[in-house]
Parts: sequence; C-alpha cells; structure tokens
Amino acid sequence: MPPALDQTPPAPRCGNGNLFQTGTPIVPGVCHGRCLILAGDEALRETRLVRTDDLAGEERRLQEAVACVRESLRTGARQVQEVLTEVDENIFAMYESLLEDPSLLDRIGKYLKEGLTLPSALAQASASFQEDFQRLQDQYLRERLLDVQDVLLRLMDAARNASRGSLPQQGLPQEEDTPIVLVARELFPSQFLSAPLQRVRGIVCETGGPTSHSAILARALRIPMLVDVPAIQEQVTTQDTLLVDCRAGLCYINPSRELLEQYQLALQTSRGENAQPDALPPVDDAPATLDGATVHLRGNITLFSEMPALHAAGIREVGLYRTEFMFLIRNAMPDEETQCRVLRRLVEGSCGADVVIRALDIGGDKPLSYIQWDDELNPSLGWRGLRFLLTNPDFTRVHLRAILRSCPSGRVKLLFPMVSDMGDLLRIKGLVQEAVDSLKADGLPFGVPPLGMMLETPSAALALERLLPQVDFVSIGTNDLVQYLFAVDRGNSRVAQWYQQCHPIVLRLLGDIRRTVEKFPGKDLEICGEMAGNATIFPALLGAGLRNFSMNPAAIPAIRDQVRELNLSECQKLYQNICGTDTAEEAQRLLKEFSR
Ligand code: PEP
Ligand code: MG
Repeated sequence: MPPALDQTPPAPRCGNGNLFQTGTPIVPGVCHGRCLILAGDEALRETRLVRTDDLAGEERRLQEAVACVRESLRTGARQVQEVLTEVDENIFAMYESLLEDPSLLDRIGKYLKEGLTLPSALAQASASFQEDFQRLQDQYLRERLLDVQDVLLRLMDAARNASRGSLPQQGLPQEEDTPIVLVARELFPSQFLSAPLQRVRGIVCETGGPTSHSAILARALRIPMLVDVPAIQEQVTTQDTLLVDCRAGLCYINPSRELLEQYQLALQTSRGENAQPDALPPVDDAPATLDGATVHLRGNITLFSEMPALHAAGIREVGLYRTEFMFLIRNAMPDEETQCRVLRRLVEGSCGADVVIRALDIGGDKPLSYIQWDDELNPSLGWRGLRFLLTNPDFTRVHLRAILRSCPSGRVKLLFPMVSDMGDLLRIKGLVQEAVDSLKADGLPFGVPPLGMMLETPSAALALERLLPQVDFVSIGTNDLVQYLFAVDRGNSRVAQWYQQCHPIVLRLLGDIRRTVEKFPGKDLEICGEMAGNATIFPALLGAGLRNFSMNPAAIPAIRDQVRELNLSECQKLYQNICGTDTAEEAQRLLKEFSR
C-alpha cells in the first residue's frame, strides 16, 4: 500500500534522552554548533499579514536588521577576498548600497506605518517591488529585482533570528569562535556566502539535493551537510545547538553532555580532516602498480578554494576546473575583466602545473537565474553546455577571451563540454579563432592553449576517430556519458537503478575509446567523471587501459593507495571477465570478488 500523504512533518524522535531528527547526508562529517536560522524566499511570498500596534518597536527592529545585514555584507566581502575567488566582492558593495537606498527603506517603512510587523512589511515590500519591476522595459533593470529580493531576504533573516533567539547581530553568538550550524528550508548560495564561513561547521536543510549549488559549495568547503530533515526550522531557535552526524544521517537537538562526550573523537577527527596541513606535502601524483604500471592523478575542482585541499593531497595538476560557479553565484553575467581576474588567480595558484579550464557548462540542472530559460521538457537534452555557447556567440567570445588571457599566467588547457559532433567542434574552434583575432587587434597579452573535448555524448564516442584530429586531448565525462548512454536522468532518484556506471556496456565503451585514442600518438586521454574516484570500479578502469584520472581531491589518497596494491595484469583479467558479462549485477559481483 502506498504511504499515506500525511502533511504533518514528523516531530523529533527521542533516543537515550536526546531529541533527534533523521536526514540524508550529502556532505560527510560530524559537527556541533549553535543554530543560525536562514529564511527561504517563501518567507517573502508570505501572504498572511501580521499586524501590531508597536510601530516604534518595529522601526527599531528594522534599524537593527539593517545594521546587522550591513555587518554580514562586510563579513561576506572579507571572506570573498580570503577564500572565494569566484565571487565578486563588488556584489557585497552593491548590496550595501541597495540597503542604504531610501526607496527601499521608505517602502518598508510605509508598510510598518500601516501597522504591519517587520516580516510582513518585508513580504509586502517584496510583492510591490515585483509588480514595479515587471513593468520595466529594460531587461537589465528588470533583472535587478533579484538583487532587491536578496537584500529583503537578508533583512528577513536578521529579523527572524533576532526575534527567535533574542540575540543581537542576526542571532549570532557574539563570541568570535562559537561554531555555527546553518539551518534553512533550502539554502541559497548567496545566503551561504554571507554567513561567517570561518565559523560555519555544518548545514541542516529541509530540502536540497547533492547537486544543488549550495551542496557543491559545501562539498568544496568541506562543511558537513544534511538535507531532507523535516520541519527543522520550526523545531529550533538560535539558542539551540545541533549535533549533526552525516555518517548516520542524524541530527540531535541540544545533545546531552554524555552524547557529546561519545562524539568527541568523531568531532575532532572530522575537524582534523578538514584542516589544512601547515606544510605542503611533496607532489605524489604518479603512483605505480605492483607490476610497474604508472597512473597519473589530477584533481577536479569547482572553487579556487579547493586548491589547498588538492595540494595537501600531494597533487598540483587540475584535470577539470568547472567554470560554472562564478556564473551561478551572480545575479548578472560577469564581464570579461571579472572572469579574467578569477581565472588568472586560479592559474597563478596552480604552482606552474597544468590547469584544464572547462568552458562554461551551463543549463540542464544548472540554469542561470538571469537568463531566460523557457520551460524545457528535457533540460538535460536541451540548451546546455556547448549548445548554450554556440547560440550565444557574443557571450562566448568574451568568455573565451577571458580564458585565453589567463594563459600567460601558467599552463592552461581548454576543454569543451557536451560536444556532439564535428559541426560543434568546428564552430567552437571558429569562435576560439575569433577570440584570438580580437585579442591581437586589441594588443592584449594572451596565449592559445591546447584544446580538448569532453566525451560525454554517445554520438561523440561513435565519431571519435573522425573528431580526434581536431583536438589535442579528450576527457571522458562519465557522469553525463552514462546518463546519455542509458537515456537515464543522472539526478532523478526514481530511475537511479538504471544509472549504472559499472555496467559492462560502459566498461566496453571505455576500452573502445582508449583503443581509438591510441591510434593518434600524442593525444592525451583522461577520465574525469565521478567513476574515476570510485575505488570499487577503479581496478576495471585500469584494466580497460586508462591511465590518467582526474577526481575530487577527497578521493585521491584512497585511490593512490589502491594503485600501489594492485597488479595491472589482474586488473586486465578482471576487465576481460566483466566485458564477457551482460548486466551491471554480474559486473558488480566480479568487482566485489576482486576487491576481496
Ligand atoms: C561528467 O559529465 O562526467 C563531468 C565531469 O561533468 P559534470 O559532472 O560537470 O557534468
Ligand atoms: Mg558533464
């Protein structure tokens, strides 16, 4: 019988005298800290208006909220300089000037005078700005609504935390080093970035998935994150603490001293894993198997701030830098200078090692809020990756100019996502040439990097032999290749059983790709999908003849140790046996037996 559609969220349960809620861990770790409650944008859509007679009290609340948002914006700007290169600190200055704008404060003040409480006045102001902005002809000005909403949401957060916990400064504990757990219905990246990141130890949300932008950020910053925790916003105040255990998928509300003692070691270990060593370990990116086959390891990074973690893992080369984040985090397209600044810092920070910069792979599950994305029935099959770049040549020329201008700072390679055939490749190479010509005409310093294609569509895999003369290297993006091979959405948990990375069809295809690339001496082949860092499948990838792997920095130490315990000849046998099977279950059984 299907489960009843009960709308009441489950109350926290009790175990060993501790209240707890369950959730889905999406970034590992264990943490403990005071709650900082963040409003979702539904708070701005609230239509039930609450009234009060205390106008003076509400006006004071507004002033306090403005002061604490100003403070948090300044914190955000400092953090951006220190840790988040992809974010433009000017965003915070722009928000600050909006916060001081009399038309914003007057509108909120007007609703307060009509007798509304501050949260209701903020919701009303949001609705009325929305109406005003929709009437504007100018697209750019219309898009500024997102910025106004963002500032209103910050004011809402400040007002809510102050009233729930009666604590000053956005409900934050005053002590500089008090650890914090962010509590949100759904966490928006801009909220995340304005939180005092040095003190944020964990995140608990009511909804969210592993590929959400906040999850990507949390993973990059190694902050444990638990989602699907029902009604947690209603169950805590800023006076409460949460103990978050992302191993067991639990969070305890105000854990007892005994429980914290039990967790002490796990808490220390989790923090220790996230700390960076003082001295950089030497480069250790080419481990060999017991029978002497050398393997090359590199890192996939989404944020520049992951670079120290990569270096700490003994790796310098970046096999995949996903450029999406600097675009996702903004409310408008970054200009050439901004893109160039971020990319230069990345390349300069790579200690002279190779950095593979992937051209923007936007769309699919990563739409940009400031681009009109008409509802697509099949976003993953729609306007994404190279298709977006080729249909926006003006944008793409600017993007490519920024990448080419970062080349003199180090060893850049340029990778194109979602190539599906020769037409795609020739058109994007044409745009690269146009970028080269315009940079020459402008007399700006630049370089022309080796060009590569991601292999993530079956059509490109089938046409590989004909495409290879057009590129210098190939990187297999198995996350998408598996999605398109089996026609199964990689983000839909309902059909997850059809998303089978270790299926013999996938492994046979990887072997075919390797054989094809080998016919072209000097062309490099790499694998950068999640499979590359999957210790169970890894021996089969080695057996398929792959030698260059780029993966999440956290996966590197285990894979490196594994390489040193493997015999290539045994991996080759394993691979042959898997190729003789027909189902993922049989392949999994062979992989399991092998790892035993
Ligand atoms: C892939 O598809 O395997 C890949 C590395 O790209 P992304 O996960 O960013 O789509
Ligand atoms: Mg991909």
